[in-house]
Amino acid sequence: MNTITHHINGKATLASSRQHDIYNPATGEKVACVSLASASEVENAITIAKAAFADWSQTTPLSRARILFKFKALVEDKREELAAVITEQHGKVHEDALGEITRGLEVIEFACGIPSALKGEYTEQVGREIDAWSTNQPLGVVAGITPFNFPAMVPMWMWPVAIACGNTVVMKPSEKNPTATMLMAEWMKECGLPDGVLNVVNGDKEAVDVLLTHKEIQAISFVGSTPIAEYIYSTAAAHGKRVQALGGAKNHMIVMPDANIDGAVSALTGAAYGSAGERCMAISVAIAVGDIADELVAKLAEKAKGLKIGDGSNKGLDMGPLITEEHLAKVKGYVAKGVEEGATLVVDGRDIKIDSNKNGYFMGGCLFDHVTTDMVIHKEEIFGPVLCVVRVPDYASAVKIINEHEYGNGTTIFTRSGGIAKQFTHDVQVGMVGVNVPIPVPMAFHSFGGWKRSLFGANHIHGPEGVKFYTKRKAVTARWPEGDLGAEFSIPTMK
Ligand code: NAD
Repeated sequence: MNTITHHINGKATLASSRQHDIYNPATGEKVACVSLASASEVENAITIAKAAFADWSQTTPLSRARILFKFKALVEDKREELAAVITEQHGKVHEDALGEITRGLEVIEFACGIPSALKGEYTEQVGREIDAWSTNQPLGVVAGITPFNFPAMVPMWMWPVAIACGNTVVMKPSEKNPTATMLMAEWMKECGLPDGVLNVVNGDKEAVDVLLTHKEIQAISFVGSTPIAEYIYSTAAAHGKRVQALGGAKNHMIVMPDANIDGAVSALTGAAYGSAGERCMAISVAIAVGDIADELVAKLAEKAKGLKIGDGSNKGLDMGPLITEEHLAKVKGYVAKGVEEGATLVVDGRDIKIDSNKNGYFMGGCLFDHVTTDMVIHKEEIFGPVLCVVRVPDYASAVKIINEHEYGNGTTIFTRSGGIAKQFTHDVQVGMVGVNVPIPVPMAFHSFGGWKRSLFGANHIHGPEGVKFYTKRKAVTARWPEGDLGAEFSIPTMK
């Protein structure tokens, strides 16, 4: 049995005493176990990262970028290996695992341009013979804490930008599937990253709490569920750290009566059921406006019944299993709750069986109609393959539902009207907005982040906002006078 340890100072370190079992969700078999770091192991990783900062922060942005260029090429060569690890420990289908790697690599590509991104600003003659400039300097040791649902991409939202900016990093991946992060750290070493710059500690709350409170940690990037995001934000901020804590979501798609219905149905099917709904940008609510609801629901039902489900390592599938047996039970519990609350369960995928994988954590796509906003299945994030349809009479009622929801991660509208689309992008209280696209995930050279209880903190993640998050601004004012200019007791007035 493979025991996953930690990656500290460029080496796999001795295993801690506490461990967590890792299962292949498609088979229900234990495939590895991971060491859960003690507080002193995390403190050691921080000390190592702090020591590495002294030299790493003095390297040039160009030399940091060159290591990332090598890493990009290496991951492209090894993407099948990485995708296989993702599928084994997460369950998502192979093609989707490859897609996740591509989206992560886009952040690497952005970080390869760090010499441009770090260019400061310069003003000649802010005063007579006085020049001023602003620079962006690294913070020191920063930490990243990541969820199970994108074991390669979400860590790549953090560490590449952080180290490109000259910081050193301690990552704490999800204990459910940490191997992708471990591999990336080992591969960065192969590409020439000095030891101690990128460290990985595996663990749970005990490890996280050290990162949140340790005096040498300057900034925390977190992605995960909202209750934990809120805890991370309040604890780390109370300890004087910069924090960006991205939380959960409930993403709505408005389907207007003038929309291309078949296009909207296909988009909804992929966005609701892809990765078994375990995406923070999954669309989990379709808001049917006006008289299109019956047609929309009938077509969605056909698609939900036709989903190809199975072990994600096989080709040609739409959806794999859920992450754990507990999570499967939780999602099925939400479906039962929806029925109890009076929503119409048009497609019930709870009892599907995959003959070749009897012990896997599978369920089929579920579709609810006549969902109302007071129902638990509308209010809470289900994080499974469950799509709810809410019927409303007009656009104003649709946008009100989205704006009143506690989450504000992603949303999209399907319409043929430019006017309605423009109105929607202006009105909606959500961080990432789409028009006739299923899942509006911004590219890496923009930045990613939600509003309301989907993000705690001021900065979105990666892209230009990532550079801002991982650097501190310094403003310099300079002149080179000949001789003594005399004392000035008053602030200069306008002349
Ligand atoms: P989670 O909150 O359970 O875990 C996230 C991380 O926090 C893990 O590393 C975990 O070890 C750690 N953690 C868990 N409990 C903790 C505690 N009590 N104290 C300290 N640390 C703790 O999330 P998850 O189940 O791994 O991931 C799914 C969630 O992540 C969903 O809610 C999803 O919407 C969200 N997510 C959000 C985004 C986004 O960009 N907003 C992206 C991906 C996932």
